[in-house]
Amino acid sequence: MKKHILTFILLFFLLAALICCVSCQNGATETSAPANPAADNSVETPAHEHSFGEWSVVEAATCTEDGSETRKCSCGETETRTIPAAGHEYVNGVCTVCGDKLVSEGLSFTLNEDGAGYSVSGIGTCKDTELFIPDVYEGKPVTSIAGSAFEDCEKLVSVTIPGSVTIIGNKAFSGCAGLTQVTIPEGVISIGKFAFCDCAGLTEVTIPASVDSIGEAAFANCSGIAALSVSAGNQKYSSAGNCIIETAAGILTAGCGASVIPTDGSVTSIGGWAFSGFSGITDLTIPESVTLIGECAFFRCTRLASVTIPQSVTAIGDNAFGSCSRLQTVRYAGSEEQWFGISLGESNDPLTDAERICGYMP
Ligand SMILES: [Zn+2]
Ligand SMILES: [Zn+2]
Repeated sequence: MKKHILTFILLFFLLAALICCVSCQNGATETSAPANPAADNSVETPAHEHSFGEWSVVEAATCTEDGSETRKCSCGETETRTIPAAGHEYVNGVCTVCGDKLVSEGLSFTLNEDGAGYSVSGIGTCKDTELFIPDVYEGKPVTSIAGSAFEDCEKLVSVTIPGSVTIIGNKAFSGCAGLTQVTIPEGVISIGKFAFCDCAGLTEVTIPASVDSIGEAAFANCSGIAALSVSAGNQKYSSAGNCIIETAAGILTAGCGASVIPTDGSVTSIGGWAFSGFSGITDLTIPESVTLIGECAFFRCTRLASVTIPQSVTAIGDNAFGSCSRLQTVRYAGSEEQWFGISLGESNDPLTDAERICGYMP
């Protein structure tokens, strides 16, 4: 019996020791938990705030393709974002960034006689109101705008002529009443007769340095033109007072409603059709240096009320003052006898019918 009791006590202590040991081990695991403090702190303290540097371009955007850029934090984190495609920047139909060219479709072309280039000969099936004439057609340069190519295309609003064109034919844009914007590019040599006649919407024309021939009436009846100029460096033409002047010959080739004819002696004749159809002109003084007034020079200046003609004038062409229906007063510096010495062309009734003041001194 005693043996049994001893065995029991022994088992009891063994069991107790065992429980104690297990609970000690549990305690040990509990106390060992703070041995991993960083993990705990990262949950409780605020996150690291990235401090990114400047964006730097990884791949630049082009006119049509997106690019990308990136920035980096001191912690190594990077951010990337898209740079949107910039879009083309067209100036006169050519993108200044990538060189892409706007081109109107459906125009008609004719092979030049020499077979080396094409002329644009008509609007064809093109419906564009903003016309962009290509510089190349079927692998050959487009070198001219044929006569009457766009005559009476009243819906055209703007025309961009490529630098490959050297000739703008007679009546090429005549009667394009809606045309408000045309840029004649450097490279054009010849502007034909009546090329832009009856383009009342044009407000500004610049003749490039390359032009060495402007046909008569090229800008006749363009009553909206308020600024006429010739680019510096043109060997044949120059401009002054919104007049285009054939410099060496002293011929005022084209004027407009805003023209003031230079009085410095640089103009010796008013060219044919120079001011025809400029209905804004009401009073006109022709300077002393002028000897000739060409045919139709002031034809259909329907609001012209008075004109001063110097004694130097020896000839006035046909229709020079034709259809100047409101012309009332002619001031002439010479005598009555000298007046009748002027070679006067036909159809100048408004001039001869007006009240004439001879011996006029300004
Ligand atoms: Zn960071
Ligand atoms: Zn572009």
